[in-house]
Amino acid sequence: MHRTTIGDFELTVFSDGTYFLDGGTFFGVIPKVMWEKKMRADEKNRVRTGLNSLLVRTGERNVLIETGIGNKLSERMTKFYGQPAELLDHMHAAGVAPDDIDIVINTHLHFDHCGWNTVLDTERVVATFPRAKYFVQEGEWQHARRQFARDRISYISENYDPLIETGQMELLRGSREIVPGISVQVFPGHTAHMQAVIIESGARKACYISDLIPTRAHIDITWGMAFDLFPVETIESKKKYYSESIPQKWLTVFTHDPGQPWAYVERDAQGQLVAQPLPEI
Ligand SMILES: [Zn+2]
Repeated sequence: MHRTTIGDFELTVFSDGTYFLDGGTFFGVIPKVMWEKKMRADEKNRVRTGLNSLLVRTGERNVLIETGIGNKLSERMTKFYGQPAELLDHMHAAGVAPDDIDIVINTHLHFDHCGWNTVLDTERVVATFPRAKYFVQEGEWQHARRQFARDRISYISENYDPLIETGQMELLRGSREIVPGISVQVFPGHTAHMQAVIIESGARKACYISDLIPTRAHIDITWGMAFDLFPVETIESKKKYYSESIPQKWLTVFTHDPGQPWAYVERDAQGQLVAQPLPEI
């Protein structure tokens, strides 16, 4: 298990398992001869991809960032991606029950980021975390509802619409502090309204950067995913992120890294970006 502290906050990574994505789409315009040095592809050209959720215990609140793929994928989608559905088991093994979660933050509404928001309870879809207040950007939800041909496969409305109907999910407009020390900030590129989650305690900061930098292999500013709707903005958002995160030594948390869920992204003596691992405790 990956656990660390940021000031008074305890951070624990819980995985929903791993799934497979086409290596070409995962690395966008980067040629395979370059990306395969960092991630090995299988015989179908797929790479194994992580599903890292982050639990932040502030002492007052338990905040869960991102909820993986969940267990409601259709048979067809399961054929493509698999459906590991391990998140609740891992949380349970660590003594964390769904009732313990006070806040859920989704960085965006792609199915691999909000799948455990809800579960199927006989005929009805209900909140997995019954006491929690959920947060996402309103613009992201508006985009999801419009069901564009380009990316409608990425949006499964039962992951969020039932929560909006009951008022359990709040739609945000831009940056906001969610609880003291935990705030969201929009970094456009992957989608127009994807939000990162910034965690600050005791003068230290961590950031769940989501699909802006999905793994350690994507730290270079030009290494974006083919899924990014606005790849030029992804580059600008990465520059903006590093302009704060590098000098202030933020811990970066990666959604889709199957090995190391977090690292300090720094520049080496040659000015190259490098991901320095965090010593495990
Ligand atoms: Zn995404």
